[in-house]
Amino acid sequence: MATLENILERAAAEISAADSLVALDETRVRYLGKKGEITQLLKQLGKMSKVERPKAGAQINDAKTELTRILEQRRTKIESNVYREQLKSEVIDVSLPGRRSSLGSFHPITKVLDRIEDFFTGVGYMVVEGPEIEDDYHNFEALNIPAHHPARAMHDTFYFSDELLLRTHTSPVQVRVMEVQEPPIRIICPGRVFRVDQPDPSHLPMFHQVEGLVVDTDVTFADLKGTIVEFLRVFFEREDLKVRFRPSYFPFTEPSAEVDVHCVSCNSSGCRVCSNTGWLEVMGAGMVHPKVLEYAGIDSEKHSGMAFGMGPDRLAMLRYSVSDLRDYLDNDLRFLEQFK
Ligand SMILES: [Zn+2]
Repeated sequence: MATLENILERAAAEISAADSLVALDETRVRYLGKKGEITQLLKQLGKMSKVERPKAGAQINDAKTELTRILEQRRTKIESNVYREQLKSEVIDVSLPGRRSSLGSFHPITKVLDRIEDFFTGVGYMVVEGPEIEDDYHNFEALNIPAHHPARAMHDTFYFSDELLLRTHTSPVQVRVMEVQEPPIRIICPGRVFRVDQPDPSHLPMFHQVEGLVVDTDVTFADLKGTIVEFLRVFFEREDLKVRFRPSYFPFTEPSAEVDVHCVSCNSSGCRVCSNTGWLEVMGAGMVHPKVLEYAGIDSEKHSGMAFGMGPDRLAMLRYSVSDLRDYLDNDLRFLEQFK
């Protein structure tokens, strides 16, 4: 029994020294496992005399119970230590500010296109898009610009072949609509257009246009003026914005006009943006040439039409004081983030 005392002492010391569940289990196996020291003692009971056996058996069993108890105690202790360590390592400082994900924003030209579309859809226009690769007929011929017409020289065109080209304006979309739709027609056509040009602050080989077309039985120049003046005042958010129409020439409209507004950056007192004229040219417009209606199969005796076209790139320059068109295409976040 001196051995038993000795075993218990050693076991107790080892258990309290065990600092992990694995080490503790190794200790348990060493004493209580199949080949453990206590188990070995129990096996030796058979060699004892009948007189000694019950007492020794009881003592060994008591030792076993005691050992099991302190093992459990130690296990609980280790487990709570492990839990505490885990909490310590996973500590979260809820007072730290969170990491914000940065929000994107719409491109200034997209914003301007949205403003234009909002206005016109609000007064009953439909938004129509067409192909960027056009044929010569829709881009020129049907718009009263036959081959060798001097106006073709103003459209520095990217040709794929004699027949196919990158559209130089969005007017061909209007032709395509007139070909298939009976008047009344009330549409705007936003989209990209292309002209051979060296990029500089005010020119790009790819830019945007929004053209509008109304064809009905009694469309007049007064309708055109009223629509454009109202649109420009809404677009620039100035109720008293001064607008003027200057006579001009386009092959597809007659009469034709160019539209100016009072310079929005100097209020017409003269500045760099308006080249000290006080006026900014913002649009071209006119009454649809009867020939254009006839080309599309619309009776020009019965119907009349008005058309107008504007450059969203330039309108965005004026609205957001952008000085270089190339900034639109550079994808520089420092530029784009200003339009949030
Ligand atoms: Zn000005």
